[in-house]
Order: sequence, then C-alpha cells, then structure tokens
Amino acid sequence: MSSVQLKKLKQQMDNCRQCLEAGYSIAPKAIYSGVYSARTMIIGQAPGVTEVEAGRPFNAGSGTRLFDWLKAAGFNEKKFRSEQYMTSVTKCFPGKSKNGGGDRVPSRKEQGLCRSYLDREIQIIDPRLIIPVGRLAINLFYPSKLSLAEIIGLRKEINNRFIVPFPHPSGASRWHQIAENREKIAQAIEQIAGLRAELGL
Ligand code: SF4
Repeated sequence: MSSVQLKKLKQQMDNCRQCLEAGYSIAPKAIYSGVYSARTMIIGQAPGVTEVEAGRPFNAGSGTRLFDWLKAAGFNEKKFRSEQYMTSVTKCFPGKSKNGGGDRVPSRKEQGLCRSYLDREIQIIDPRLIIPVGRLAINLFYPSKLSLAEIIGLRKEINNRFIVPFPHPSGASRWHQIAENREKIAQAIEQIAGLRAELGL
C-alpha cells in the first residue's frame, strides 16, 4: 500500500455524494485527518457541526475530553493529529436528530454506504492500534449485545492489530461521568500506554 493510494481514497471520499443520492439530508463533506505513516487510528461515529467548521475530527468539547484521555496515555494532541489518523464510521455530518437533542445517528444504510471507505483506510494505513470511540465504532469490533461496561477495558487483538475502545467522550453522554465507569476508562488508558511502550507508537 502507498501514500498515493491514500491520497486517491481521500479524493474519493471528498467527492462522495452517495448518501445524498440515497435521499439522506447529510452535509456532504468528508471529515478525516492524518497521514499514511500513522500507526494508531481513531474511529469515531460521525462528524458534528464544529468538526465540519474546523475540517477535522473531534474538534470541540468531545475532542478535548478524548485528548485528555490520550494525553494520560502519553500522546500529545498536536503531534497525534499530525502523525496519526482519525476518521469515523460515516464521514459526513448526518444532521441534527429529530428531537434536537444532539446529532442524528447515521442509519445502517448510511453506515453500509460508507463502510468500504473505512475498510480501505484500515487496509492502506494498516495501523497497529485502533481506538474505536463510541458505540457505533465499537460495534465494528465487539458484539453489540455486550454493554459498554463489559467492553471498555477489554483489549482485543485481531490479525496482529490491537483494539482498545473508548466510550463517546461527549458532554451529553453520562456514561463516562460515572465513577465506576471512569475506572474502566483508566484501564483502557493504561492499555494504550502499555501498547505505546511495547510497540513504540
Ligand atoms: S457519509 Fe460516507 S458514503 Fe455518505 S456521502 Fe459521506 S463519504 Fe459518502
């Protein structure tokens, strides 16, 4: 795989209008960031308004919390953003939810339409560590019947690639604010720190 292939894939994602053509009123602008040489990949759910405005994933409040967790694992935000890769299950802003209480969760069909891009990102970059953030991304690697409490802190190895999940860091999510769940997040942070040392990430 090569950086040229990643460049081509980025162009395809930038030009993609599949969800609009399928009738979804998304904002067609693919949000992702990072480089071919990345060894760690973050996969979120979908970008929000502030991510679209800034043109980068995890830009606002949820990004601040996510990078607090990553900092505790030894990553510097500026360095991470320039040296690693960040993407999401669906790349374009899905719009607000009908009840106005946050962003709409992309439908299964939209997830399916966008899936080949994510598969290609993983294939081309070939990261040693994937950090799925939030339920939609976690469901790519863990059975959906398991609760977050059962999953966070549960490191996996698939095809010589490590998976360490984080819950969604949004302020609207209460899960990470509960004391016993914070212990699970601390376990995940420790696992990431351990993998950084072991793999030189
Ligand atoms: S979310 Fe994915 S599949 Fe849908 S328009 Fe954006 S890039 Fe294309």
